[in-house]
Amino acid sequence: MAKRIYAFGGGTAEGSRDMKNELGGKGAGLAEMAAIGLPVPPGFTITTGTCAEWVAAGEKLPRGLDREIRAALGRVERLTGKVFGSRGNPLLLSVRSGARVSMPGMMDTVLNLGLNDEAVEGLAARSGNARFAWDSYRRFCAMFGDVVLGMKPERKEDRDPFAELLEAKKAALGVRHDHELPVEALKALVGEFKEAIRARKGIDLPADPFEQLLLSVGAVFRSWQNDRAIAYRKLNGIPGSWGTAVNVQAMVFGNLGEDSGTGVAFTRNPATGEDEFYGEFLVDAQGEDVVAGVRTPQKVSEMEARWPEIARQLLSVRSTLERHFREMQDIEFTVERGTLYVLQTRTGKRTGLAATRIAVEMAEKRLITREEALLRVEPEALNHLLRPIFDAERKAEAIRGGRLLARGLPAGPGAASGRVVFFAEDAQAWKARGEPVLLARHETSPEDIRGMAAAEGFLTAFGGMTSHAALVARQMGKVAIVGCEALSFDYHARTLTVATATGPRTFAEGDWLSIDGMAGEVIEGRLPTRPSEVVQVLVERSRAPEDAPTYRRFATLLGWADQARRLGVRANADQPDQADASVAFGAEGIGLCRTEHMFFGEGKIGPMREMIVAETEAQRRAALAKLLPLQREDFAGIFRHMAPRPVTVRTLDPPLHEFLPQDEAGVAELARATGQPVARVRERIAELHEANPMLGHRGCRLGISYPEITEMQARAIFEAACDVAAEGLAVRPEVMIPLVGAVAELDHQAATVRRVAEEVFRERGRRVRYLVGTMIEVPRGAVTAGKIAGTAEFFSFGTNDLTQTAFGLSRDDTGPVLAAYLEKEIWPVDPFVSIDREGVGALMELAVRGGRAARPGLKMGICGEHGGDPSSIEFCHQLGLDYVSCSPYRLPIARLAAAQAALREKAAARPAAKAAARRRTPRRPASRRRPRGKARRARR
Ligand code: ADP
Ligand code: MG
Ligand code: MG
Repeated sequence: MAKRIYAFGGGTAEGSRDMKNELGGKGAGLAEMAAIGLPVPPGFTITTGTCAEWVAAGEKLPRGLDREIRAALGRVERLTGKVFGSRGNPLLLSVRSGARVSMPGMMDTVLNLGLNDEAVEGLAARSGNARFAWDSYRRFCAMFGDVVLGMKPERKEDRDPFAELLEAKKAALGVRHDHELPVEALKALVGEFKEAIRARKGIDLPADPFEQLLLSVGAVFRSWQNDRAIAYRKLNGIPGSWGTAVNVQAMVFGNLGEDSGTGVAFTRNPATGEDEFYGEFLVDAQGEDVVAGVRTPQKVSEMEARWPEIARQLLSVRSTLERHFREMQDIEFTVERGTLYVLQTRTGKRTGLAATRIAVEMAEKRLITREEALLRVEPEALNHLLRPIFDAERKAEAIRGGRLLARGLPAGPGAASGRVVFFAEDAQAWKARGEPVLLARHETSPEDIRGMAAAEGFLTAFGGMTSHAALVARQMGKVAIVGCEALSFDYHARTLTVATATGPRTFAEGDWLSIDGMAGEVIEGRLPTRPSEVVQVLVERSRAPEDAPTYRRFATLLGWADQARRLGVRANADQPDQADASVAFGAEGIGLCRTEHMFFGEGKIGPMREMIVAETEAQRRAALAKLLPLQREDFAGIFRHMAPRPVTVRTLDPPLHEFLPQDEAGVAELARATGQPVARVRERIAELHEANPMLGHRGCRLGISYPEITEMQARAIFEAACDVAAEGLAVRPEVMIPLVGAVAELDHQAATVRRVAEEVFRERGRRVRYLVGTMIEVPRGAVTAGKIAGTAEFFSFGTNDLTQTAFGLSRDDTGPVLAAYLEKEIWPVDPFVSIDREGVGALMELAVRGGRAARPGLKMGICGEHGGDPSSIEFCHQLGLDYVSCSPYRLPIARLAAAQAALREKAAARPAAKAAARRRTPRRPASRRRPRGKARRARR
């Protein structure tokens, strides 16, 4: 039978940091810290496998576990000199959950376990502090009642039932903070808590400590299955089968008076990444008081003045942990009567801004390698560096105009304006109606997670930089301000009141507010935003790189990525200004220039419409002749801006009626331009109507019906190419024929393109190198790719259409299907976001093999939306494509994702080298080495 319990504390540990799968992140971190000699209260971890056993046995603790727990408790008793269940000298425990990956606040914790009416007296006598003993007891009653007995709020407007009793008590006594309650009040509260449990649940709080312990262990396992844990797992793609571990640990007490306290800290600033110790603590407080925002805490940088010795020790813990884990850590600590304990360490969550800075600075200081730095930044996190900020002038004007309402802690960078709502459900509902919302609450909790995902940003009255709202903001990349104490809420009336310098101001649900997550400022009304520092340097060129430290770190990281990656990156861009932005963000070419977007430009839609409603070839040619010079200018602009890089131009693709006027005025205008009666134009529009345009007269089918359209486009491309080449620039056009399912379609179109190319070259007296290729975007094209490659000089996977046609589901109609399919886990992810490797991916693989067999070295890329999705990019790397093409603003993400794909492949290919690298890190007994199965899984 597998070992179920791993002990830690007293300078050693049975587990290690490599055992996250078995011990969960928290258990592995506690074991590692104990083993390297950090002050960790002793305890033990019950494995995630035991949780799986519990689930398999129909939610029952496995036989024999109670004996194993008793044995492990014996060790904790010896190390602490206290006795579990004793009246005179009771050992109290914390029971905490901890899954493989950190799920902040998702799972529940019970503190001070082991207390009952007798033990509380013993604790009071032994500590000489009755207030402390009863404070601990009331906390235990509330946590046990909540976590184990399920005493939750009944309606969304309600607060937690215990919190309500606590608030009432404070109000009755006229005190503001929990720790100001006198011992008599705490005793009364314990009575009221127990009474509330009896009234709602019909049972008594169990007095037997061991029964409390077993029930709590079961409750932690059950919390793995609660709604909010499930919601979090869904949002983050965590499998339900993993289970959670349980950590049972001796309590240490931060609520023992002025020489005690509790805190949380990051080894670097999690918002900016600055190399400074960053955290908060509360004097005379316990457990989650800091995170829950009971009082707004003090900064650890201010600890020096109060507790110089502890401050020094903490700094040394900080550097020990960073050197040992070679990563920014997020820690929890408690000070009990002047002695420091560390209760948790884990990799700290951070904003994209901070992630980039920390990775680059750690690599520059040689704490980690460049490869590690690249692997540490989530590609999506680079979005944070591109996120808008408020237009400085408009913001200053708003502030001068008295619209600055309040300041709070800047917990999530960026700028957001939205309509304020007070409940997570409302945030979801309003967002679904297309309204941008800000979620404002007293504090947030894990129940709010879905609503938080829907909001542009969050605003809370309580809590610090390590509160739930702040953590989630950093993780989701939302704008957030927390600990904004000027706010108060009336959830029933759905209003928010801000205490401003000029008196209180009240806002109702739906009012516009703006929040600056960099400055921590809450501003009345709606404000326009401006591009980020990176965009100012690269795209607007309104700021010099020397004055842009964020830009410089961004550029350094991406420079390393460019050295590491094998995939090329191109942009999907249709206009010269987009071409500029693409080059600025690192595009090595254009992978998709959609000609149809050009037709909506100045002066073009008119002739385009005339062309479409034309009834004879002669009429059509007349309209096309008007379009030719316009289109030639567009192409020339793009070629000029992209030179000497390749530009892939796709010939006309969408169904024609998409270009036609929908309104009466437009129809009348078109009638005037074509000299046709209005009725006839209307008739012609009706004729062009298609039952299912997505599968209709579009793509190469248009060019086959009306070769003169392809002719005009080819002429525009080659004339532009010759003109720009004549300016001395290198032009590399690649003409791409869409929606090809049979080689004969491509043959037809390619012949037209090549014929026109020769005509133009003759006329202009110069030649330009060019390619003719095709999109692979219908299953038949993928299956017959070998034949198609006989004509095509390149392939570009149009994975939007390929996904639609492979699934037989129109992307525009996925809404209702998608919601149900994701909910019921029929699809693991939205296949329009991330390539469905099993189906669509198999078609791509077939096409790659067929294409390269027929034409070795055939150039291949992807230009669907998936080209900017990190997981799809990794797949394209594995397929051996030459490049991915995505929208300009996703290029940084693509460059980093491509580098990561290459690095992961390299790591997988050299297990021997990897083992050697591991041997260089601190020695560890063989039994603690990472099992081989996991190493293999981790790579996937
Ligand atoms: P979370 O995963 O939400 O951070 P934890 O299990 O870490 O939950 O614990 C919740 C709170 O209880 C934390 O503030 C932690 O520091 C505190 N805590 C946990 N174990 C102990 C202990 N042995 N002694 C004192 N406080 C503890
Ligand atoms: Mg914790
Ligand atoms: Mg397509």
